[in-house]
Amino acid sequence: MAIDKTQYDETKPHQVALLQLEIAAEKLGLDEGMKLKLQNAKRVLIVTFPVKMDNGKLRIFTGYRVQHNNTRGPAKGGIRYHPSVDLDEVKALAAWMTWKAAVVKIPFGGAKGGVQCNPKEMSKGELERLTRRYTWEIAPLIGPEKDIPAPDVYTNAETMAWIMDTFSTLHGYSIPGVVTGKPVAIGGSLGRNEATAQGCVYTIQEALKHLGMDMEKATVAVQGYGNAGSNAALIIHNFGAKVIAVSDSRGGIYNADGLNPKKVLEHKEETGSVVDFKEADTITNEELLTMDSDILIPAALENQITVENANKVRAKIIAEAANGPTTPSADDVLNDKGIFIIPDILCNAGGVTVSYFEWVQNIQSLFWTLEEVNDQLARIMRRSFWDVAAITKKEKVHMRTAAWMLGVGRVAEATRLLGIYP
Ligand code: NAD
Repeated sequence: MAIDKTQYDETKPHQVALLQLEIAAEKLGLDEGMKLKLQNAKRVLIVTFPVKMDNGKLRIFTGYRVQHNNTRGPAKGGIRYHPSVDLDEVKALAAWMTWKAAVVKIPFGGAKGGVQCNPKEMSKGELERLTRRYTWEIAPLIGPEKDIPAPDVYTNAETMAWIMDTFSTLHGYSIPGVVTGKPVAIGGSLGRNEATAQGCVYTIQEALKHLGMDMEKATVAVQGYGNAGSNAALIIHNFGAKVIAVSDSRGGIYNADGLNPKKVLEHKEETGSVVDFKEADTITNEELLTMDSDILIPAALENQITVENANKVRAKIIAEAANGPTTPSADDVLNDKGIFIIPDILCNAGGVTVSYFEWVQNIQSLFWTLEEVNDQLARIMRRSFWDVAAITKKEKVHMRTAAWMLGVGRVAEATRLLGIYP
């Protein structure tokens, strides 16, 4: 029976995640019971907690931690601080983590957390108190063997250090393995900060080979200039491609002759935005998404490429560094146009892969060199790209459905092997 896509509200990330699962489940021939198991999050924790603000007043914040699945290993996923964080979004992001870990075949399940707040309007002290109290609230759920947070939008290595310290203080000894993406000086891994972008660019290299295109001749537009976006721009520039446009929440910049991503980053660090960079014209985020470029890297938030603008997208490759940037209806339009999509659960899996390396190093109390990290990351990302590409050929499906079939198929197999308790 054909799937009725109109049943799903594509403005809601969790509905998108459920529709994508439905498409993969149908292709894999999963039964209703298995589908139900995979649709539902294992654990959902909602916390409301007070934080003393700098003006002496109390504010109540709402936070979430969702463990979607831990069939293949401990739950794993980042923590997001953003005004739009809600349960629907966190559930979607947690589920995407489950499929992502399975696509790259690392022994983790999926989780995600978030606090509804606007970090841009908060002082460092307020953010630290918020982080420490949120950690205390979700402490019963997390731990190196249970659920391991990491950075996501508007959280970073410093946030992870606060989480590690709070969790370690609660237990009375140092527990580096409770988070990944922490500073190297306290047990972080070399290469973790750039890992999402590095992995994304490895998959782009393979896509270019697949399509017979040349990195040195490619032009690139990047939406979002945070951890994933700025590092993707820096790395792909070093690989010889020409980065012609980048953006952040305040707008975008464009230079047909190519931008210097390092200089743009310095400008953003000085001024708070990429906008007003001297050697470029100003553009909107919408213009960036639909401009003439070979490679488009969405590296900001969900729901950026929708039916409203998909028809105007002109890139040849979309490399989804962000989670959920493209809606399923937009996918159909892009597929009809012959645009090659490297789907999020493959494209941005470098972050969780090096998080896994960090966790392994913490458990063994030893450290890898940057070369070891990047060699292993390259091996996993390249292998995963071709695993997915092979499914596109065999099953005559596009890259997204192939990636979902691979990820969901592996989790379903693990579920079958373990059986249902009792
Ligand atoms: P970040 O906070 O470091 O950066 C986010 C960037 O997006 C900022 O430059 C911000 O200005 C920009 N932005 C926000 N709203 C925007 C908008 N409406 N239009 C354009 N730009 C906007 O976050 P990040 O860690 O780089 O995460 C970005 C995306 O990558 C998210 O979808 C995240 O889930 C995904 N991701 C991150 C990691 C990781 O390791 N950090 C791993 C996998 C996936």
